[in-house]
Amino acid sequence: MIYLDHAATTKTDPEVLAAMMPYLTQEFGNPSSVYQFAGRSRAALENAREQVAALINADPREIVFTGGGSEADNLAIKGYAWAHQDKGRHIITSAIEHHAVLHACERLEKMGFEVTTLCVDQYGLVHPEQVAEAMRDDTILVTIMHGNNEVGTIQPVAEIGALCRERKVAFHSDAVQTLGKLPINVKQLPVDMLAFSAHKIYGPKGVGVLYLRKGVRVWPLIDGGAQERQVRAGTENVAGIVGMGKACELAGQRMTEDNARIAELRDYLRDRLMAEIPYMLYTGHPEQRLPNIASFCIRYIEGESILLMLDAEGICASSGSACTSGSLDPSHCLLAMGLPHAIAHGSLRVSLGRENTREECDRVVEVLPPIVQRLREMSPLYGDAARQSET
Ligand SMILES: *Cc1c(COP(=O)(O)O)cnc(C)c1O
Repeated sequence: MIYLDHAATTKTDPEVLAAMMPYLTQEFGNPSSVYQFAGRSRAALENAREQVAALINADPREIVFTGGGSEADNLAIKGYAWAHQDKGRHIITSAIEHHAVLHACERLEKMGFEVTTLCVDQYGLVHPEQVAEAMRDDTILVTIMHGNNEVGTIQPVAEIGALCRERKVAFHSDAVQTLGKLPINVKQLPVDMLAFSAHKIYGPKGVGVLYLRKGVRVWPLIDGGAQERQVRAGTENVAGIVGMGKACELAGQRMTEDNARIAELRDYLRDRLMAEIPYMLYTGHPEQRLPNIASFCIRYIEGESILLMLDAEGICASSGSACTSGSLDPSHCLLAMGLPHAIAHGSLRVSLGRENTREECDRVVEVLPPIVQRLREMSPLYGDAARQSET
């Protein structure tokens, strides 16, 4: 198998698994219990909190463990909106957010909040001036993602955050795709909240983090015990949290080297595919993008069919189109970037990771062009276009 879908999830690192194992077996104490045995679980939890904090230069007390990246986004957006609705009920977001953000905002709209959804340019970029223009007296929160999961575009979060500070509006950013790929320093970056997920950085699924800046108040989504400073009730997923901590420690150690190598491999794959396949667009920003994502629109064919044929060759990739998202609409993100439906349907995303090799990229370059050719031969759209370009 050739795995090129690291933006969807990653393989748990063996060192992460090894760190987790004791907490799935003999170290089963509840961190809230008083005896010494449970204290060891508590210590593991606090050690993980320090590991996460170290990667983003935060105070460990600003780290809230959640049940994943989606939950962290929801906690930031709904939790902040609920806690501050007496100050205003207007929220600003962008059209290319992950569904965890978009649907959380839609839920708030149903509850009487107002949401402004900013458009993006052809590269998927939100411009800070747009945020400034959308600000109102009753704006309480801006939520704009850091790195986009479909096309990899990196948003100007420092500028947007500075604007929010000026206007005393809270700023949340979904940084699930950027953790471990870009250095994040919350002592410098003007953000109030950031969402992260363990399984995107070689950690376990079902664990996430909300970075919650000291003094920023959110209402919990889950009420119950006093865990996580009363922001997220429920007995902690100790093993998962230990895995998140370890994954952050490893990401810190490997980030520079890994990403340089992965970006080089990604560019190699992109250049070779672009040279081999006609009528193919490279989507997203040419430079301001995550090091591991290459995204394309291959004209005249369906992303879904490409995925099935790649799968038959043992290659795992992804597409923003059709059934991958459980709907027949092409990716909301590509449409927001101004691509017509017909072109957005032919989207293909490859996202590389630590274990990918040049040989694997060569294999993709060998396999994909004939797949595209075969699908185009079956496509009426392609026949018409080919005839038109002949005349
Ligand atoms: C994967 C992802 C999420 C959701 O994280 P989960 O841990 O799977 O809930 C949120 N935002 C972005 C940008 C993602 O890529």
